[in-house]
Amino acid sequence: MNAPTPLRRAAAFLAPLLCLVFAPLTAAPATSWRAGTARENITPPAGLWMTGYASRDKPAEGTAQELWAKALAVADPAGNRGVIITLDQCGISRQSTDRVAAELVRRHGLPRSAVMVNVSHTHCSPQLAGNLNGIQILPPDGLAKAVAYPPDLEQRMIRVADAALAALAPARIAWGVDEAHFGFNRRENPEKDVVALRAAGQLKGPFDPRVPVLAVRGADGALRALLVSYACHSTTLGIFKWHGDYAGSAMLELERRHPGANVLFTIGCGADINPGPRREERLADEHGRALADAADRALARPLTQVEGGFASAWGDVTLKFSRRPTEEQLREAETKQQPNQGMHRAWAASVRELIRTRGDKLLEYDYPVQAWRLGGLSWVALGGEVVIDYALRLRREAGDNLWVFGYSNDVMAYIPSERVLKEGRYEGDTSMVPYGQPGPWSPGLEDRIISKTRELLTRTAPPR
Ligand SMILES: [Zn+2]
Repeated sequence: MNAPTPLRRAAAFLAPLLCLVFAPLTAAPATSWRAGTARENITPPAGLWMTGYASRDKPAEGTAQELWAKALAVADPAGNRGVIITLDQCGISRQSTDRVAAELVRRHGLPRSAVMVNVSHTHCSPQLAGNLNGIQILPPDGLAKAVAYPPDLEQRMIRVADAALAALAPARIAWGVDEAHFGFNRRENPEKDVVALRAAGQLKGPFDPRVPVLAVRGADGALRALLVSYACHSTTLGIFKWHGDYAGSAMLELERRHPGANVLFTIGCGADINPGPRREERLADEHGRALADAADRALARPLTQVEGGFASAWGDVTLKFSRRPTEEQLREAETKQQPNQGMHRAWAASVRELIRTRGDKLLEYDYPVQAWRLGGLSWVALGGEVVIDYALRLRREAGDNLWVFGYSNDVMAYIPSERVLKEGRYEGDTSMVPYGQPGPWSPGLEDRIISKTRELLTRTAPPR
Protein backbone atom coordinates (compact mmCIF):
# COMPACT_ATOMS: atom_id res chain seq x y z
CA MET A 1 0.00 0.00 0.00
CA ASN A 2 2.92 2.28 0.68
CA ALA A 3 5.16 1.09 -2.12
CA PRO A 4 6.97 4.20 -3.36
CA THR A 5 5.59 5.53 -6.61
CA PRO A 6 8.08 6.79 -9.21
CA LEU A 7 6.81 10.32 -8.49
CA ARG A 8 7.42 9.97 -4.76
CA ARG A 9 10.85 8.57 -5.46
CA ALA A 10 11.66 11.51 -7.73
CA ALA A 11 10.32 13.99 -5.17
CA ALA A 12 12.43 12.38 -2.49
CA PHE A 13 15.60 12.83 -4.49
CA LEU A 14 14.69 16.36 -5.50
CA ALA A 15 14.00 17.56 -1.95
CA PRO A 16 17.60 18.27 -0.90
CA LEU A 17 18.33 19.86 -4.26
CA LEU A 18 15.37 22.21 -3.89
CA CYS A 19 16.59 23.21 -0.46
CA LEU A 20 20.00 23.95 -1.87
CA VAL A 21 18.48 26.04 -4.64
CA PHE A 22 16.63 28.14 -2.07
CA ALA A 23 19.78 28.77 -0.03
CA PRO A 24 20.87 32.43 -0.05
CA LEU A 25 23.66 33.25 -2.50
CA THR A 26 25.19 35.94 -0.32
CA ALA A 27 26.15 35.82 3.32
CA ALA A 28 24.19 38.91 4.36
CA PRO A 29 23.91 39.27 8.13
CA ALA A 30 20.87 37.31 9.27
CA THR A 31 18.13 39.17 11.06
CA SER A 32 15.89 36.15 11.51
CA TRP A 33 16.13 32.49 12.26
CA ARG A 34 17.26 30.31 9.42
CA ALA A 35 16.56 26.65 8.71
CA GLY A 36 17.64 24.04 6.20
CA THR A 37 16.47 20.52 5.62
CA ALA A 38 17.55 17.47 3.64
CA ARG A 39 17.01 13.75 3.29
CA GLU A 40 18.96 10.64 2.29
CA ASN A 41 17.51 7.29 1.39
CA ILE A 42 18.94 4.66 3.78
CA THR A 43 16.91 1.67 2.61
CA PRO A 44 19.46 -1.12 3.08
CA PRO A 45 20.73 -3.31 0.26
CA ALA A 46 19.12 -6.73 -0.15
CA GLY A 47 20.10 -9.51 2.19
CA LEU A 48 20.52 -7.57 5.42
CA TRP A 49 19.04 -9.15 8.52
CA MET A 50 16.32 -7.38 10.42
CA THR A 51 16.27 -6.28 14.03
CA GLY A 52 13.87 -5.67 16.90
CA TYR A 53 12.71 -9.20 17.64
CA ALA A 54 14.69 -12.24 18.77
CA SER A 55 12.48 -14.30 16.46
CA ARG A 56 13.95 -12.75 13.29
CA ASP A 57 15.27 -15.84 11.52
CA LYS A 58 15.89 -14.65 7.98
CA PRO A 59 16.94 -11.50 6.12
CA ALA A 60 14.52 -8.87 4.80
CA GLU A 61 12.63 -10.00 1.73
CA GLY A 62 11.88 -6.60 0.25
CA THR A 63 10.85 -3.01 0.82
CA ALA A 64 7.37 -1.96 1.93
CA GLN A 65 8.48 1.60 2.70
CA GLU A 66 11.82 3.18 2.04
CA LEU A 67 13.83 4.10 5.12
CA TRP A 68 15.21 7.62 5.50
CA ALA A 69 17.79 9.71 7.26
CA LYS A 70 16.49 13.26 7.48
CA ALA A 71 18.03 16.38 8.91
CA LEU A 72 16.82 19.75 10.07
CA ALA A 73 19.38 22.47 10.71
CA VAL A 74 18.47 25.67 12.51
CA ALA A 75 20.39 28.88 13.15
CA ASP A 76 19.33 31.75 15.39
CA PRO A 77 19.85 35.41 14.36
CA ALA A 78 23.24 35.41 16.11
CA GLY A 79 24.37 32.43 14.01
CA ASN A 80 24.19 29.73 16.71
CA ARG A 81 23.41 26.51 14.86
CA GLY A 82 22.10 23.05 15.62
CA VAL A 83 21.30 20.03 13.46
CA ILE A 84 19.03 17.12 14.29
CA ILE A 85 19.28 13.89 12.32
CA THR A 86 16.31 11.52 12.44
CA LEU A 87 16.58 7.92 11.27
CA ASP A 88 14.17 5.14 10.38
CA GLN A 89 16.17 2.73 12.52
CA CYS A 90 15.42 0.63 15.59
CA GLY A 91 18.49 1.73 17.51
CA ILE A 92 21.99 3.10 17.17
CA SER A 93 25.19 2.85 19.17
CA ARG A 94 26.96 5.69 20.92
CA GLN A 95 30.06 4.85 18.88
CA SER A 96 28.18 5.55 15.65
CA THR A 97 26.62 8.83 16.75
CA ASP A 98 29.90 9.99 18.29
CA ARG A 99 31.73 9.36 15.00
CA VAL A 100 29.07 11.22 13.02
CA ALA A 101 29.01 14.12 15.49
CA ALA A 102 32.81 14.37 15.58
CA GLU A 103 32.91 14.73 11.80
CA LEU A 104 30.16 17.38 11.82
CA VAL A 105 31.92 19.25 14.62
CA ARG A 106 35.13 19.18 12.54
CA ARG A 107 33.48 20.26 9.29
CA HIS A 108 31.12 22.92 10.62
CA GLY A 109 32.65 24.17 13.87
CA LEU A 110 29.58 23.15 15.85
CA PRO A 111 29.72 22.25 19.53
CA ARG A 112 29.04 18.52 20.16
CA SER A 113 25.82 19.48 21.93
CA ALA A 114 24.46 21.00 18.70
CA VAL A 115 24.28 17.62 16.94
CA MET A 116 21.24 15.52 17.93
CA VAL A 117 20.32 12.05 16.64
CA ASN A 118 16.93 10.40 17.17
CA VAL A 119 15.91 6.97 15.84
CA SER A 120 12.23 6.15 15.23
CA HIS A 121 12.64 2.61 16.71
CA THR A 122 11.00 0.93 13.73
CA HIS A 123 11.46 -2.81 14.16
CA CYS A 124 11.45 -3.26 10.37
CA SER A 125 14.98 -1.86 9.99
CA PRO A 126 18.36 -3.60 9.72
CA GLN A 127 20.31 -5.27 12.47
CA LEU A 128 23.39 -3.14 13.19
CA ALA A 129 26.52 -4.46 14.84
CA GLY A 130 26.97 -2.90 18.28
CA ASN A 131 23.23 -2.48 18.98
CA LEU A 132 20.90 -5.00 20.63
CA ASN A 133 23.80 -7.42 21.03
CA GLY A 134 21.61 -10.03 22.71
CA ILE A 135 19.71 -10.60 19.48
CA GLN A 136 22.75 -10.78 17.21
CA ILE A 137 21.71 -14.32 16.31
CA LEU A 138 23.00 -14.16 12.77
CA PRO A 139 24.79 -16.63 10.52
CA PRO A 140 28.35 -15.56 9.61
CA ASP A 141 27.33 -13.85 6.35
CA GLY A 142 24.54 -11.98 8.17
CA LEU A 143 26.94 -10.83 10.83
CA ALA A 144 29.42 -9.67 8.18
CA LYS A 145 26.69 -7.56 6.58
CA ALA A 146 25.61 -6.15 9.96
CA VAL A 147 29.20 -5.06 10.54
CA ALA A 148 29.66 -3.65 7.04
CA TYR A 149 26.49 -1.52 6.98
CA PRO A 150 27.07 1.09 9.76
CA PRO A 151 29.98 2.94 8.07
CA ASP A 152 27.74 3.53 5.05
CA LEU A 153 24.87 4.65 7.31
CA GLU A 154 27.23 7.03 9.13
CA GLN A 155 28.37 8.54 5.82
CA ARG A 156 24.75 9.12 4.86
CA MET A 157 24.05 10.74 8.24
CA ILE A 158 26.99 13.09 7.75
CA ARG A 159 25.89 13.86 4.19
CA VAL A 160 22.30 14.65 5.18
CA ALA A 161 23.43 16.95 8.01
CA ASP A 162 25.92 18.65 5.64
CA ALA A 163 23.11 19.25 3.15
CA ALA A 164 20.73 20.66 5.78
CA LEU A 165 23.42 23.03 7.09
CA ALA A 166 24.28 24.10 3.53
CA ALA A 167 20.59 24.84 2.92
CA LEU A 168 20.18 27.26 5.84
CA ALA A 169 17.90 30.05 4.62
CA PRO A 170 15.64 32.61 6.32
CA ALA A 171 12.71 30.82 7.92
CA ARG A 172 9.82 31.26 10.27
CA ILE A 173 9.78 28.48 12.85
CA ALA A 174 6.72 27.88 14.98
CA TRP A 175 5.27 25.10 17.09
CA GLY A 176 2.01 23.71 18.36
CA VAL A 177 0.58 20.59 19.97
CA ASP A 178 -2.34 18.25 19.41
CA GLU A 179 -3.13 14.68 20.51
CA ALA A 180 -3.31 11.15 19.10
CA HIS A 181 -4.68 8.17 20.99
CA PHE A 182 -3.47 5.02 19.24
CA GLY A 183 -0.80 4.44 21.91
CA PHE A 184 -1.51 2.71 25.22
CA ASN A 185 0.48 1.65 28.27
CA ARG A 186 1.50 -1.90 27.41
CA ARG A 187 2.44 -2.82 30.98
CA GLU A 188 -1.04 -2.10 32.30
CA ASN A 189 -3.42 -3.26 29.55
CA PRO A 190 -3.75 -6.66 27.82
CA GLU A 191 -3.18 -6.09 24.11
CA LYS A 192 -6.22 -8.13 23.07
CA ASP A 193 -8.54 -5.86 25.09
CA VAL A 194 -7.10 -2.52 24.02
CA VAL A 195 -9.72 -1.54 21.46
CA ALA A 196 -12.58 -2.27 23.88
CA LEU A 197 -10.84 -0.62 26.84
CA ARG A 198 -10.09 2.48 24.78
CA ALA A 199 -13.70 2.69 23.57
CA ALA A 200 -14.90 2.42 27.17
CA GLY A 201 -12.37 5.01 28.39
CA GLN A 202 -10.86 2.36 30.68
CA LEU A 203 -7.22 2.16 29.56
CA LYS A 204 -4.93 2.12 32.58
CA GLY A 205 -1.44 3.37 33.31
CA PRO A 206 0.52 6.49 32.41
CA PHE A 207 0.33 7.59 28.78
CA ASP A 208 1.00 10.83 26.96
CA PRO A 209 -1.19 11.56 23.91
CA ARG A 210 0.68 14.75 22.98
CA VAL A 211 1.76 15.28 19.37
CA PRO A 212 4.15 18.25 19.29
CA VAL A 213 4.73 19.75 15.86
CA LEU A 214 7.46 22.12 14.70
CA ALA A 215 6.70 23.90 11.42
CA VAL A 216 9.40 25.54 9.30
CA ARG A 217 8.25 27.99 6.64
CA GLY A 218 10.49 29.67 4.11
CA ALA A 219 10.53 33.42 3.52
CA ASP A 220 7.83 32.83 0.87
CA GLY A 221 5.54 31.25 3.49
CA ALA A 222 5.81 27.74 1.99
CA LEU A 223 6.07 24.86 4.42
CA ARG A 224 9.59 23.46 4.02
CA ALA A 225 9.84 21.11 6.98
CA LEU A 226 7.69 19.62 9.69
CA LEU A 227 8.98 17.80 12.74
CA VAL A 228 6.37 15.65 14.45
CA SER A 229 6.81 13.69 17.67
CA TYR A 230 4.90 10.97 19.52
CA ALA A 231 5.77 8.77 22.50
CA CYS A 232 4.94 5.28 21.29
CA HIS A 233 6.86 2.18 20.21
CA SER A 234 7.19 1.76 16.45
CA THR A 235 6.07 -1.85 16.74
CA THR A 236 2.88 -2.05 14.75
CA LEU A 237 4.76 -4.42 12.45
CA GLY A 238 7.16 -7.33 12.57
CA ILE A 239 7.10 -8.11 8.84
CA PHE A 240 10.15 -9.22 6.84
CA LYS A 241 10.21 -6.06 4.75
CA TRP A 242 11.74 -2.65 5.40
CA HIS A 243 9.08 -0.35 6.80
CA GLY A 244 9.06 2.85 8.85
CA ASP A 245 6.05 1.58 10.87
CA TYR A 246 3.40 4.13 11.91
CA ALA A 247 6.06 6.87 11.93
CA GLY A 248 7.01 6.10 8.32
CA SER A 249 3.35 6.06 7.30
CA ALA A 250 2.73 9.40 9.07
CA MET A 251 5.68 11.04 7.30
CA LEU A 252 4.53 9.76 3.88
CA GLU A 253 0.99 10.95 4.55
CA LEU A 254 2.11 14.42 5.67
CA GLU A 255 4.49 14.72 2.71
CA ARG A 256 1.57 13.85 0.43
CA ARG A 257 -0.63 16.47 2.09
CA HIS A 258 2.13 19.13 2.11
CA PRO A 259 4.06 18.80 -1.15
CA GLY A 260 7.57 20.20 -0.89
CA ALA A 261 7.82 19.72 2.89
CA ASN A 262 10.39 17.36 4.39
CA VAL A 263 8.68 15.63 7.32
CA LEU A 264 10.79 14.36 10.22
CA PHE A 265 9.66 12.17 13.12
CA THR A 266 11.17 12.05 16.59
CA ILE A 267 10.05 9.46 19.10
CA GLY A 268 9.31 10.51 22.66
CA CYS A 269 9.57 8.46 25.85
CA GLY A 270 7.44 5.63 24.50
CA ALA A 271 9.28 2.61 25.92
CA ASP A 272 6.22 1.30 27.79
CA ILE A 273 3.73 2.52 25.20
CA ASN A 274 2.64 0.35 22.26
CA PRO A 275 0.48 1.16 19.27
CA GLY A 276 -2.78 -0.78 19.31
CA PRO A 277 -4.19 -2.61 17.53
CA ARG A 278 -1.24 -3.84 15.49
CA ARG A 279 0.37 -6.57 13.35
CA GLU A 280 -1.04 -5.53 9.94
CA GLU A 281 0.39 -3.09 7.42
CA ARG A 282 -2.97 -1.34 7.11
CA LEU A 283 -2.82 -0.60 10.87
CA ALA A 284 0.55 1.13 10.52
CA ASP A 285 -1.10 3.32 7.86
CA GLU A 286 -4.13 3.90 10.08
CA HIS A 287 -1.96 5.01 13.03
CA GLY A 288 0.17 7.08 10.65
CA ARG A 289 -2.95 8.86 9.42
CA ALA A 290 -4.05 9.50 13.03
CA LEU A 291 -0.66 11.08 13.71
CA ALA A 292 -0.83 13.12 10.49
CA ASP A 293 -4.34 14.29 11.40
CA ALA A 294 -3.10 15.42 14.83
CA ALA A 295 -0.22 17.32 13.20
CA ASP A 296 -2.60 19.00 10.77
CA ARG A 297 -4.99 19.97 13.57
CA ALA A 298 -2.05 21.57 15.40
CA LEU A 299 -1.01 23.41 12.22
CA ALA A 300 -4.53 24.73 11.69
CA ARG A 301 -4.45 26.64 14.99
CA PRO A 302 -2.31 29.68 15.80
CA LEU A 303 1.24 28.47 16.47
CA THR A 304 3.83 29.80 18.89
CA GLN A 305 6.67 31.49 16.98
CA VAL A 306 10.25 30.60 17.83
CA GLU A 307 11.92 33.88 18.75
CA GLY A 308 15.08 34.58 20.69
CA GLY A 309 18.16 32.41 20.61
CA PHE A 310 19.38 28.84 20.15
CA ALA A 311 21.40 27.13 22.86
CA SER A 312 22.53 23.55 23.39
CA ALA A 313 24.12 21.56 26.19
CA TRP A 314 25.29 17.98 26.65
CA GLY A 315 26.17 15.96 29.72
CA ASP A 316 26.90 12.32 30.45
CA VAL A 317 25.67 10.84 33.69
CA THR A 318 27.24 7.62 34.97
CA LEU A 319 24.58 4.96 35.52
CA LYS A 320 25.29 1.63 37.20
CA PHE A 321 24.15 -1.89 36.44
CA SER A 322 23.13 -3.65 39.65
CA ARG A 323 24.99 -6.94 39.28
CA ARG A 324 27.78 -8.73 37.51
CA PRO A 325 26.69 -12.10 36.14
CA THR A 326 28.52 -15.05 37.68
CA GLU A 327 30.43 -17.58 35.60
CA GLU A 328 27.72 -20.09 36.48
CA GLN A 329 24.98 -17.81 35.12
CA LEU A 330 26.90 -17.26 31.89
CA ARG A 331 27.43 -21.01 31.43
CA GLU A 332 23.78 -21.66 32.08
CA ALA A 333 22.79 -19.08 29.43
CA GLU A 334 25.16 -20.80 26.99
CA THR A 335 23.99 -24.37 27.59
CA LYS A 336 20.48 -24.51 29.06
CA GLN A 337 17.67 -25.65 26.76
CA GLN A 338 15.11 -22.84 26.97
CA PRO A 339 12.90 -20.69 24.75
CA ASN A 340 14.94 -18.13 22.78
CA GLN A 341 18.10 -20.07 23.49
CA GLY A 342 19.96 -18.20 20.74
CA MET A 343 19.22 -14.90 22.48
CA HIS A 344 20.51 -16.17 25.83
CA ARG A 345 23.69 -17.41 24.14
CA ALA A 346 24.14 -14.06 22.42
CA TRP A 347 23.61 -12.30 25.76
CA ALA A 348 26.34 -14.43 27.38
CA ALA A 349 28.69 -13.68 24.46
CA SER A 350 27.99 -9.95 24.79
CA VAL A 351 28.61 -9.97 28.55
CA ARG A 352 31.85 -11.96 28.13
CA GLU A 353 32.99 -9.35 25.60
CA LEU A 354 32.09 -6.55 28.03
CA ILE A 355 34.06 -8.28 30.80
CA ARG A 356 37.03 -8.57 28.43
CA THR A 357 36.92 -4.98 27.18
CA ARG A 358 35.52 -3.05 30.18
CA GLY A 359 37.04 -5.00 33.10
CA ASP A 360 36.35 -3.18 36.38
CA LYS A 361 34.16 -0.65 34.56
CA LEU A 362 31.73 -3.38 33.45
CA LEU A 363 28.92 -2.09 35.65
CA GLU A 364 29.26 1.60 34.72
CA TYR A 365 27.59 3.26 31.76
CA ASP A 366 28.04 6.81 30.49
CA TYR A 367 24.49 7.81 29.66
CA PRO A 368 23.95 10.80 27.33
CA VAL A 369 21.58 13.68 28.12
CA GLN A 370 21.19 16.60 25.72
CA ALA A 371 19.16 19.81 25.79
CA TRP A 372 18.34 22.35 23.10
CA ARG A 373 16.58 25.65 23.41
CA LEU A 374 14.85 27.17 20.39
CA GLY A 375 13.62 30.54 21.60
CA GLY A 376 11.00 29.73 24.22
CA LEU A 377 10.85 26.03 23.35
CA SER A 378 13.08 23.42 25.00
CA TRP A 379 13.97 19.96 23.72
CA VAL A 380 15.52 17.26 25.87
CA ALA A 381 17.02 14.22 24.14
CA LEU A 382 17.59 11.18 26.35
CA GLY A 383 19.44 7.99 25.41
CA GLY A 384 17.86 4.54 25.53
CA GLU A 385 14.29 3.31 25.54
CA VAL A 386 12.88 5.77 28.07
CA VAL A 387 9.56 5.07 29.80
CA ILE A 388 6.82 7.68 29.78
CA ASP A 389 7.25 8.60 33.48
CA TYR A 390 10.29 10.73 32.56
CA ALA A 391 8.41 12.91 30.08
CA LEU A 392 5.48 13.38 32.42
CA ARG A 393 7.73 14.27 35.38
CA LEU A 394 9.91 16.68 33.42
CA ARG A 395 6.91 18.42 31.93
CA ARG A 396 5.27 18.77 35.34
CA GLU A 397 8.46 20.52 36.45
CA ALA A 398 9.33 22.56 33.39
CA GLY A 399 5.97 23.23 31.72
CA ASP A 400 4.38 22.57 28.36
CA ASN A 401 7.09 24.23 26.32
CA LEU A 402 9.34 21.21 26.95
CA TRP A 403 9.47 18.28 24.52
CA VAL A 404 11.24 15.15 25.72
CA PHE A 405 12.64 12.70 23.16
CA GLY A 406 13.87 9.19 24.03
CA TYR A 407 15.91 6.93 21.70
CA SER A 408 18.44 9.70 21.20
CA ASN A 409 22.19 9.53 20.54
CA ASP A 410 22.60 6.02 22.01
CA VAL A 411 20.08 3.20 22.40
CA MET A 412 21.83 0.94 24.91
CA ALA A 413 18.93 -0.42 27.01
CA TYR A 414 15.53 0.37 28.44
CA ILE A 415 15.52 3.29 30.88
CA PRO A 416 12.93 2.51 33.53
CA SER A 417 11.72 5.02 36.06
CA GLU A 418 12.23 4.09 39.69
CA ARG A 419 8.64 2.80 39.72
CA VAL A 420 9.15 0.58 36.65
CA LEU A 421 12.56 -0.61 37.92
CA LYS A 422 10.92 -1.76 41.17
CA GLU A 423 8.07 -3.45 39.32
CA GLY A 424 10.60 -5.23 37.08
CA ARG A 425 9.30 -7.33 34.19
CA TYR A 426 10.44 -6.52 30.64
CA GLU A 427 11.15 -2.78 30.71
CA GLY A 428 12.56 -2.95 34.27
CA ASP A 429 14.62 -6.12 34.06
CA THR A 430 14.50 -8.83 31.40
CA SER A 431 15.04 -6.53 28.38
CA MET A 432 18.70 -6.38 29.45
CA VAL A 433 19.06 -9.82 27.80
CA PRO A 434 18.24 -8.69 24.21
CA TYR A 435 20.35 -5.60 24.87
CA GLY A 436 23.30 -7.80 25.89
CA GLN A 437 23.84 -5.84 29.11
CA PRO A 438 25.01 -7.37 32.43
CA GLY A 439 21.77 -6.93 34.38
CA PRO A 440 19.14 -4.43 35.56
CA TRP A 441 20.08 -0.84 36.39
CA SER A 442 20.81 0.06 40.02
CA PRO A 443 18.17 2.13 41.82
CA GLY A 444 18.68 5.88 41.66
CA LEU A 445 18.91 6.26 37.87
CA GLU A 446 15.73 8.33 37.56
CA ASP A 447 16.91 11.07 39.91
CA ARG A 448 20.36 11.13 38.31
CA ILE A 449 18.92 11.54 34.83
CA ILE A 450 16.38 14.13 35.97
CA SER A 451 18.95 16.21 37.85
CA LYS A 452 21.33 16.18 34.85
CA THR A 453 18.41 17.25 32.66
CA ARG A 454 17.55 20.10 35.03
CA GLU A 455 21.18 21.21 34.96
CA LEU A 456 21.24 21.26 31.14
CA LEU A 457 17.93 23.11 30.96
CA THR A 458 19.39 25.75 33.31
CA ARG A 459 22.53 25.97 31.16
CA THR A 460 20.47 26.56 28.03
CA ALA A 461 18.01 28.99 29.66
CA PRO A 462 17.88 32.46 28.07
CA PRO A 463 20.16 35.08 29.62
CA ARG A 464 18.27 37.30 32.07
ZN1 LIG B 1 11.54 -1.17 22.23
